[in-house]
Amino acid sequence: MSGLVGYNAVITGGGRGIGAAAALALAEAGAKVSVASRNEAQVVQVAAQLRENGHEAFAFRCDVTDPHQVRDLAMSASEAMGRIDILVNNAGTATSNRISRISHAEWQHIMDVNATGTFLCTQAVWNGMSERRWGRVVNVASTAGLSGGKYISAYTAAKHAVVGFTRAMAEEAVGSGITVNAVCPGYVDTPLTDETIARIMHHTGSSREDALSSVLEQAGQPRLIRAGEVAQAIVGLCHVGAHAPNGELVLLDASEPE
Ligand code: NDP
Repeated sequence: MSGLVGYNAVITGGGRGIGAAAALALAEAGAKVSVASRNEAQVVQVAAQLRENGHEAFAFRCDVTDPHQVRDLAMSASEAMGRIDILVNNAGTATSNRISRISHAEWQHIMDVNATGTFLCTQAVWNGMSERRWGRVVNVASTAGLSGGKYISAYTAAKHAVVGFTRAMAEEAVGSGITVNAVCPGYVDTPLTDETIARIMHHTGSSREDALSSVLEQAGQPRLIRAGEVAQAIVGLCHVGAHAPNGELVLLDASEPE
């Protein structure tokens, strides 16, 4: 695949999981990529691996909740790659807790990383994309951005915010050459889901297998989604030619057979 040759992408939370898979898929589609996260060692390793495979890749440390770091990321990635054409707002985090146990700090952190981070990163690249009259913003939301679930009120509210932001920015983008879309996956096989399963095991004393089954059953999923499947959907939303989708929410729920 070479549909993105000559295009440059920034992927937040690109050090592992869906972000690392998206970086690989975008690079394989021909894009130059910059991966960013708080853990510099992880993104440096992802970029090194991509370069080893013949791709052009850069790594930057950035906490998406900090406006200064986000501005620095936009500047450094633009300098390294020439400009930013594609932004994948993937950095995210989740907790599960009944409402009586959610601290204000926990609520705020979940909102900051998932929702405010998406806003800050989009804002940081928007003017450049507008001036060049071309840009692709792909937000990694969740099925939790479309419906509610027990004990995940903070995450659900944050991902609903991401979905709302996507819809609003898609309207704002009309006629600008920029498109704004989102992917909404169910449970994906990543370290984040491993943490969820470990939490259930800790609270219920169940085995890993049982905890995984209960998660899948509650989500109505026959299996975990592979990070690569989400990555391919992200690449699809970076479509270069005419009729690029705008304001789409791509649901991935593993209902298709593998
Ligand atoms: P992982 O925990 O595996 O990876 C999350 C990435 O985000 C890491 O690279 C992490 O790096 C980064 N990150 C977290 N906080 C920040 C921050 N403040 N600033 C910058 N980077 C940050 O998660 P997944 O790959 O599973 O999730 C990726 C996205 O997909 C998230 O938005 C998540 O909500 C969403 N999603 C995941 C699903 C799943 O089942 N796994 C399902 C639906 C959506 P570091 O900690 O070093 O900063």
